[in-house]
Amino acid sequence: MDARLEAIRDTVLARNPGEAEFHQAVTEVFESLGPVHDRHPEFLEGAVLERLCEPERQIIFRVPWADDSGRFQINRGFRVEFNSALGPFKGGLRFHPSVNLGIVKFLGFEQIFKNALTGMPIGGGKGGSDFDPRGRSDAEIMRFCQAFMTELYRHIGEYTDVPAGDIGVGGREIGYLFGQYKRITNRYESGVLTGKGISWGGSLVRPEATGFGTVIFAEEMLKTRGLSFDGQRVVVSGSGNVAINAIAKAQALGATVVACSDSSGYIVDEAGIDVDLLRQIKEVERGRLKEYQARRSAVDYVDGGSVWDVDATVALPCATQNEIDGDAAARLVRNGLLAVGEGANMPSTPDAVAVFQDARILFGPGKAANAGGVATSALEMQQNASRDSWSFAHTEERLTEIMVGIHDRCAATADEYGDPGNYVLGANIGGFVKVADAMLAQGLI
Ligand code: NDP
Repeated sequence: MDARLEAIRDTVLARNPGEAEFHQAVTEVFESLGPVHDRHPEFLEGAVLERLCEPERQIIFRVPWADDSGRFQINRGFRVEFNSALGPFKGGLRFHPSVNLGIVKFLGFEQIFKNALTGMPIGGGKGGSDFDPRGRSDAEIMRFCQAFMTELYRHIGEYTDVPAGDIGVGGREIGYLFGQYKRITNRYESGVLTGKGISWGGSLVRPEATGFGTVIFAEEMLKTRGLSFDGQRVVVSGSGNVAINAIAKAQALGATVVACSDSSGYIVDEAGIDVDLLRQIKEVERGRLKEYQARRSAVDYVDGGSVWDVDATVALPCATQNEIDGDAAARLVRNGLLAVGEGANMPSTPDAVAVFQDARILFGPGKAANAGGVATSALEMQQNASRDSWSFAHTEERLTEIMVGIHDRCAATADEYGDPGNYVLGANIGGFVKVADAMLAQGLI
């Protein structure tokens, strides 16, 4: 790392002790930015990095709610409004027991660059709670969402901060959150949340957008080597929103997706995952992946273990952060891996990224490859602002244009900075320069 940036990075780490994921995300971005500061000394003079690493606002709040037995439960809520240089804070809410300030900050930090790469007018933020939705009834989920919004509502708004979904927050939760916002504020403010239901202000393609976008990005990477998804053997981790839609799109492009996972285990279906059955189990019945095996022949279910033990030519990690370590990466590379498209945020550890890059694997980092979700959220905001709703085909076409654009911008930036094919460098520099220019133009804020 450039010595000037290393000193700033060390200060950021010391000011934010114990936030391992945030430290990792900051370090990864700083490692790319030395050459930018050679060309743009004004970024150092303007203390852009110091400002960028300090969120504009961090909100931590109590979320008190009653479970079905009437017992009071207390969770912790977070919203980190990281950077609004390009537009209102924008980023999802994660409900998962692992959520803490460091995780929300890593996600919010990544979101700044991702949102910049989309070319849409959105800043970066993220939020969530350590609430665990698994095993909770619909009524409990609703009461939790209402309690969460009872504090969050005063911090968000169409022109201020626009949350959406992430792990544990899908259409059902966005519905309960929106309902409570409307009730408290007495405003039908469609643009305050994205990922809404289609009949009440949502956008077609938003549910599919992150998974579809990840595959579109990976297809563009494959094309640079004269390849495509057609005939590839694909492994996907997770079986939530991003994973299911990545599987659907990869198979639509001719790949065979042979495995996917949840936090309990993974399935191997050599004939190709039956997406309709997977959707039925995970989205309709809210069941566990294990149930897939009993309903289809010739499927293996592995309890525990790692889905990255299954060989693939294309890997699409779509579950969570740091799920592929250096050993798993090395094994995949030894067994014929060609490309990785990160549907999840920071799913590859720094060791894994180094393995992929050393082996010249096509590696699409999450902040570029999974930007289709937030980009389509911005399209949802556009539709809300103009009281319009677009067709599936039109919205998907816009998503495709945006993902191809992000790919090309990352590739061109990597070329410009002398490291062709390095999408990590391209994404970090491409996103950073846009935000840094806007921050300097807006003065010391
Ligand atoms: P979902 O909650 O719909 O699905 C998450 C999936 O990942 C589930 O299968 C879950 O298994 C698994 N998972 C979650 N945490 C862990 C863990 N600690 N260990 C193993 N498996 C885990 O979330 P999404 O699909 O929305 O999000 C997946 C990833 O994509 C996240 O990294 C998210 O930040 C990222 N992302 C999502 C976007 C979106 O639009 N939704 C946009 C951009 C990025 P189980 O059910 O057993 O918990």
